[in-house]
Amino acid sequence: MEGEKIRKIIHIDMDAFYASIEQRDNPKLKGKPIIVGGPPNTRSVVATCSYEARKYGIHSAMSSNLAAKLCPHAIFVSSHFDVYRKVSKQIRDIFKDYTDLVEPLSLDEAFLDVTMNKKNISSATTIAMEIKQRIQKITELTASAGVSINKFIAKVASDFNKPDGLTVVPPFKVLNFIEKLDIGKFYGIGKVTEQKMRKIGINTGADLKKLELNKLVKLFGKVGKFYYNISRGIDNRPVNPNWIRKSLGSEITLKIDIDNIEEITDILWKIALKLEKQLKKLNLKGKTVNLKIRYYDFETLTRSITLYKPIYKAEDIISDVKLLLNKTDAGLKKVRLLGISISKFENDNIIKKTYSLFDTH
Ligand SMILES: [Mg+2]
Repeated sequence: MEGEKIRKIIHIDMDAFYASIEQRDNPKLKGKPIIVGGPPNTRSVVATCSYEARKYGIHSAMSSNLAAKLCPHAIFVSSHFDVYRKVSKQIRDIFKDYTDLVEPLSLDEAFLDVTMNKKNISSATTIAMEIKQRIQKITELTASAGVSINKFIAKVASDFNKPDGLTVVPPFKVLNFIEKLDIGKFYGIGKVTEQKMRKIGINTGADLKKLELNKLVKLFGKVGKFYYNISRGIDNRPVNPNWIRKSLGSEITLKIDIDNIEEITDILWKIALKLEKQLKKLNLKGKTVNLKIRYYDFETLTRSITLYKPIYKAEDIISDVKLLLNKTDAGLKKVRLLGISISKFENDNIIKKTYSLFDTH
């Protein structure tokens, strides 16, 4: 638009955050495949692993059991969230020297809008380099940065040259960058959508761009509009320092996989009761109920229902969850994880985000 300034957005992402902190604080772990997360045979999952462990194909959210199989000499380390939070505060203090427009996504990553900045530095690339250097000096850890004109491209770019990467996508390269981008690397396109896209021949940004808006909406619903825009390099979402909570949820990894529907319902009741307590405490009522199920084989799905009236009571939550449960294979297939979340809050503009302990990179 005329008169509208091109924005300068940076996405900073710490490299293997939890694992790198553990290696920093315990020199014996340096250069070794380490996994932050519960040990094998406990049904735990990998929170983060070091780059040495990634070479074996280990990644976040993988079961610790499988990780131990892939790399039998991997070292399992328990987490130290007090330290992670302290480092997170240190890096945010650095960001705040440049701008107040900082939107954290988790303990170890954030968007910064430096179009206008406190140091009057005109190059966002210079700012990103300075921030990386200061992070390294103060925390002895490396970060990767992506620099571009919007959040979508900055986020994708920060992942391009990890670890210790800096990827700049200037305005004139944006379209080319997206056309070449593999659909699996699109921020905001999950595994399931990725598979669906590949089935119909969408493998890159260029493929995505060929589809008309109405076709995308027909295929993917409302989010089709988002896909249409990002395939053209358009993402006008502001960097929002007052992140607003959009959902509240709770989930449980079961001690053993179960397929007994009564047991499953019992556990969902317990989760609903816990949610009711939290919703009351935050004075929230939501219109959408989401059920999450992970089967024994790690296939994960969510089912949602949106109501006319917002709810918060466990009995209301559970009656919708039971309907949603019918749309899954729970009871036929064994499940290992159950979760419920509530979203579409009626008063969602007052509550600010609180950080989950389980946010990972
Ligand atoms: Mg990270």
